[in-house]
Amino acid sequence: MALLPILRYPSPMLRRVALPVDDFGHAVRTLAADMLDTMYAAPGRGLAGPQVGTLRRLFVMDVGWKEGARAPMVCINPEILGASGRTDHAIEGCLSIPGMPLEIERPVEITLRWQDAEGAEHTRTLTGAAARCAQHELDHLNGRLILDLLDESARHAVAQRMIAMGCG
Ligand code: ZN
Repeated sequence: MALLPILRYPSPMLRRVALPVDDFGHAVRTLAADMLDTMYAAPGRGLAGPQVGTLRRLFVMDVGWKEGARAPMVCINPEILGASGRTDHAIEGCLSIPGMPLEIERPVEITLRWQDAEGAEHTRTLTGAAARCAQHELDHLNGRLILDLLDESARHAVAQRMIAMGCG
């Protein structure tokens, strides 16, 4: 078990676009296991590569572990194949932007394709918290943060709070 340091906003690493994983050997399996350890210890429900300083397209998530049994997912080279037109709003936190939960609008259902740590491909329709978390983590792989998803007035309010908190 190894805990990885979680990078915080405004680390430039959080703005980089992660690159596809094409090796499914020991290194990527160890990285995924360490990311899960780090996520559970944080404690969080999802964690993406750039948040721990690796520009590989993978994230880990387990949306229900705080309420029940652990069900870890390792999503490598994830891709959203489709999203519902219907959206909803919910509060999201981000381990890289601690103390700044924000209300974010997202599609309620997505179809996600990914590879697991052995390289096997999966396709599944996700709804609710799982759909929301996967979209949040996939955004990280594209250098996108919840701050970017706010409308103009909400962005302004957040900027004021950040100045008050002493972060830029
Ligand atoms: Zn995040």
